[in-house]
Amino acid sequence: MSILQLRWPHLSIRSTVLLAIAVAVLLPTLMLWQVEQRLARDTQAPLIDQGRQSTLTIAASSMVEPLWSLDEPAIQSALRRLLDSPGVDSVRLTEKNNPLSKPVMLVRPGAQQGQGVVLSTRISREGEALGDLEIWFDPHQLDAALAERSRATAMLAALQVLVGAMALLAVLTYRLLKPIQQLKQQASDIASRIDVPPVAWDRADELGQLGQHLNDVHAQIDGLFDQLETQKAELEKIALHDGLTGLPNRALFRELTRGAVASAARDGGKLALLFIDLDRFKAVNDSLGHAAGDALLLEVARRLKQGVRASDVVCRHSGDEFTVLLRDTNLLDELAATAERLLKAVEEPVALDRRDVQVSASIGIALYPDDAQAADELMQHADTAMYAAKHLGKARYSFYRAEFNQQLQATMQLERELKQALARDEFVLHYQPQVSAADGRLVGCEALIRWNHPQRGMVAPGQFIAAAEACGLIGDLGAWTIRAACAQAASWRAKGTNFGSIAVNVSALEFRHHRLVDTLTQAMSDHGVQPHELEIEITESVLMTDTDTTQRIVERLHALGLRLAVDDFGTGYSSLAYLKRLRPSKIKIDRSFVKGLPDDENDCVLVRAVLQLAGAMGISVVAEGVETPAQQHFLRQNGCQVLQGYLLGRPMPPDNFAGRAQHRVDEPAVMSA
Ligand code: C2E
Ligand code: CA
Ligand code: CA
Repeated sequence: MSILQLRWPHLSIRSTVLLAIAVAVLLPTLMLWQVEQRLARDTQAPLIDQGRQSTLTIAASSMVEPLWSLDEPAIQSALRRLLDSPGVDSVRLTEKNNPLSKPVMLVRPGAQQGQGVVLSTRISREGEALGDLEIWFDPHQLDAALAERSRATAMLAALQVLVGAMALLAVLTYRLLKPIQQLKQQASDIASRIDVPPVAWDRADELGQLGQHLNDVHAQIDGLFDQLETQKAELEKIALHDGLTGLPNRALFRELTRGAVASAARDGGKLALLFIDLDRFKAVNDSLGHAAGDALLLEVARRLKQGVRASDVVCRHSGDEFTVLLRDTNLLDELAATAERLLKAVEEPVALDRRDVQVSASIGIALYPDDAQAADELMQHADTAMYAAKHLGKARYSFYRAEFNQQLQATMQLERELKQALARDEFVLHYQPQVSAADGRLVGCEALIRWNHPQRGMVAPGQFIAAAEACGLIGDLGAWTIRAACAQAASWRAKGTNFGSIAVNVSALEFRHHRLVDTLTQAMSDHGVQPHELEIEITESVLMTDTDTTQRIVERLHALGLRLAVDDFGTGYSSLAYLKRLRPSKIKIDRSFVKGLPDDENDCVLVRAVLQLAGAMGISVVAEGVETPAQQHFLRQNGCQVLQGYLLGRPMPPDNFAGRAQHRVDEPAVMSA
């Protein structure tokens, strides 16, 4: 076997088996044939000798009578019969009892006279010699007999080889080669990890068993691979996650931050990295033990995770340090609110060991791209900021950039002060006259809020309205304005001041609140204000965000009989469809368009167009920011009904306004506030 393998290492099973068949069938057949030949020769030779002897004996005895009676024709006929006997080539008879006769020699045609194997005998009767008979036999008689026999044997052997080979080939193909092919396919499916069902082996022989075995192996390998996958996933989780909290660990966080920085760099996004360190964790660990410390960390981790969006990442950095990556952080205020929320979440008491424990945290915040361009640097800066927060007295957050802290502090300070100002009633309303363009008659006024700050003096609304909107104070401030304006209207009416109507500015945030209508109803009834004495100014942008809420509130205002003025008209100019739907009674052309009148051709065209449009729709127009007589003239010429601006009167305290209301406002003597 090993020699075969050595000699023909690449011989296929098919060739090997064919070779084996050839050797196993041919060789014995050949050997059998050889043996058979030898045995045949051994048995045939004496038989032929015997046959020749009996031919001689029979011939001799058949010639006794003819020789005795000298019957020549009978002698001749006996000799010819003898010559016809098998294997006889020639015969010679020498008569002894007839001195006249010559020896008779007969030769079979084709044979040579006196050649071959010769047997002779004396023919006698009662002791008297009658003649000598000699017979020459064919020397190849044995070979001829053997050759015939060997032909038949050879044909039989060939038939045996043929049938044997065919039977073996059929067996080889169907019982061996085909299943082997199938096994090969099965093995290669297993090796290539293709998801195939087990092969149905319906044969119970060794190959069938092997196939079943392969099925088992396949199932085992699949199981092992599944196991490996889970183990791999577990290992990865262990490698990338914190064992206690299950949060991403430092390594994973670093990768995630890098990825986030890369994508923020691509789409111009902003990121914030928060470095959170618990303030008194060591004390908890020391006094309550590590198990309690772990429980605390687990709870803190849970709260931090709950305090951010699902898309943000919370990581346990080490010990009592956590890091948080916030995506899409555009507003500093929102970021501060998130930090504040996380601080509060950490500060909530944690029940440990049947007692409530309270810790706090210090948070450092670094921003991408403001503070750092790379992930590692961002982390360092957040860490630095965290130390700053600790330094400032813990339980707080700090931005890496001092100016952000200051900016936020200023905002927070302003918010605090605004709250105080509301409580201390530091706000006042000033009133700016609105006059008829045609005759200068006072038709109304706009209430404009001011903050009478104890230190800073009169603060303009531009400096605090946005902050009030941002911190949610705008609702209270708006309600105050409405009540103050209603109170003023009542007071003027009581004094007999002819103020026309008061226009009150309502912020976009206030407007979407149903509280606005309630406040208005309440204030009007409290002060006995008639709907025609009040007007609501709302910016164009609010009306253009055409939500159902806007629509409903406008309808409720209409139902109250209140008029609506569209403030800063023209600054949004994207769609005028809302005019048709919401039917304001007034449009206020923004100061920026009045400014260029009458020299700027564009402004002239635009203002004329607005006047025409409003005229066609039955909406009256107020021009804002009228500062020059030329502007006044242009507007009057083009049919603007009402003018408002420094030329006609600055916003002024109520008492001044009352004084002004007694005069015609376009008289030069009374034009300044
Ligand atoms: P606004 O509603 O467009 O008010 C008109 C602003 O233009 C007022 O500024 C007024 O003083 C100023 N102004 C009037 N005539 C002229 C003029 O001839 N030339 C120039 N250059 N300016 C003129 P103010 O009082 O500083 O108010 C600014 C903005 O603050 C207002 O713009 C309004 O949007 C808001 N605001 C004022 N009071 C309130 C309020 O009570 N509630 C709310 N939500 N917003 C208010
Ligand atoms: Ca206004
Ligand atoms: Ca305006």
